[in-house]
Amino acid sequence: MHTKNSGNTAALEDYSICSIAAKQAKFILPDNNPKSVLSHLRYAYHFDATAYAAFLRKYAQQRGVMRIEGKIENVLTHQDSGNIQSVTLENGQSIDADFFFDCSGFKALLLEKTLGVKFTDWSHWLPCNRAQAVASERTEPLLPFTISTAKTAGWQWRIPTQHRTGNGHIYCRDFMSDDEANQILLKGLDAKPLGDARTIDFQTGCREHFWFKNCIGLGLSSGFLEPLESTSIFLIQQGIVRFISLYPDGQLSNVLQNEYNRLMSREFSQVRDFIILHYHATQRDDSPFWNYCRNMSIPHSLQHKIDLFRAGGRVFRDDQELFSKPSWIAVMLGQHIVPEVYDPILSDIPKSDIQRSLDSMNIAMKQAVSRLPSHAEFINKYANGVRT
Ligand SMILES: Cc1cc2nc3c(=O)[nH]c(=O)nc-3n(C[C@H](O)[C@H](O)[C@H](O)COP(=O)(O)OP(=O)(O)OC[C@H]3O[C@@H](n4cnc5c(N)ncnc54)[C@H](O)[C@@H]3O)c2cc1C
Repeated sequence: MHTKNSGNTAALEDYSICSIAAKQAKFILPDNNPKSVLSHLRYAYHFDATAYAAFLRKYAQQRGVMRIEGKIENVLTHQDSGNIQSVTLENGQSIDADFFFDCSGFKALLLEKTLGVKFTDWSHWLPCNRAQAVASERTEPLLPFTISTAKTAGWQWRIPTQHRTGNGHIYCRDFMSDDEANQILLKGLDAKPLGDARTIDFQTGCREHFWFKNCIGLGLSSGFLEPLESTSIFLIQQGIVRFISLYPDGQLSNVLQNEYNRLMSREFSQVRDFIILHYHATQRDDSPFWNYCRNMSIPHSLQHKIDLFRAGGRVFRDDQELFSKPSWIAVMLGQHIVPEVYDPILSDIPKSDIQRSLDSMNIAMKQAVSRLPSHAEFINKYANGVRT
């Protein structure tokens, strides 16, 4: 902003090596040498979720996990403690355990249906509640990033993987019919669809308790934040890591349980706020959906972050928050939330020095990126032939 006032017309992403590499469809893993400009590369994965689930199942079974397949028909609880005692399968087999993880998806078979843990609804902040998903043929060049495109009553994702592209349209059914949503999805594809679109209903929010009695909900049974930032698998992993770090003995201390719930609740709220920002900060006024999002009330925690940024470009992250400063800054500035003043620490540095330093940063990044392999070359070398 300081150099913008004096005529710098460069975009913020011209100073991001990730952005420069992504725009040229190039990729490499970050350099371990902190002096290298390539050490600033950051990345996340695009998975074929079905293939990944099969991989994890095999991985776990090879390490001794016993898998029993069957539909749970009945759940038995202890009369005194209210803890879950056993689950009974369709074939009559009963399975006892000390501790249970509810991974039954939106049904929340153990946490809600058995233990009665309530759901906190956040759909007044994140009103999208339906998705249509369809895969399409791979396109060239293979791009190393997701494209999320705002639509009339939601947004569309395009996620390229090695063998196909995943696409989906997330929308709010109060503002759009399924037929219209389907037309928008298909119109937004850049290659032939591989089948018909699948419709998925969801509700954004989370459980009042993630750990209750002798049961933890993981995945969709514990809550769902729509996939604008693709955070569900991350939240599942966080649940597992937190449980391991608080691993209880047979007494199931309330202290451990409360701490788990505090940490997971904080995690969900932080992700929630970041996603709400994308919607609320919009300047679009061309549809009832976007008008609703622009005018809706938002959580105090998010308003506080916006106020701090507006007042002087500050981003304060809580300990271990998933989204980094660059992520917050990218969405704030990208949605035209601009600081009213620049950091006074820059006042004593001549503008020409700052500009010189920015220019040399940009040149070093461009030079480093020019030597990188294309994303397709990298993937061929790194994960060639991995297909199930
Ligand atoms: C539209 C959409 C887009 C998404 N995009 C992303 C993304 O980009 N990134 C990301 O990280 N996550 C994403 N997710 C979330 C991701 O799909 C889930 O986190 C993942 O599927 C794990 O879900 P789950 O195992 O909790 O539930 P599910 O996948 O629904 O699995 C629940 C399982 O429980 C079984 N079950 C239910 N009842 C019983 C019973 N009585 N007996 C036995 N079994 C039972 C079901 O058969 C099913 O196999 C997305 C989700 C949606 C809806």
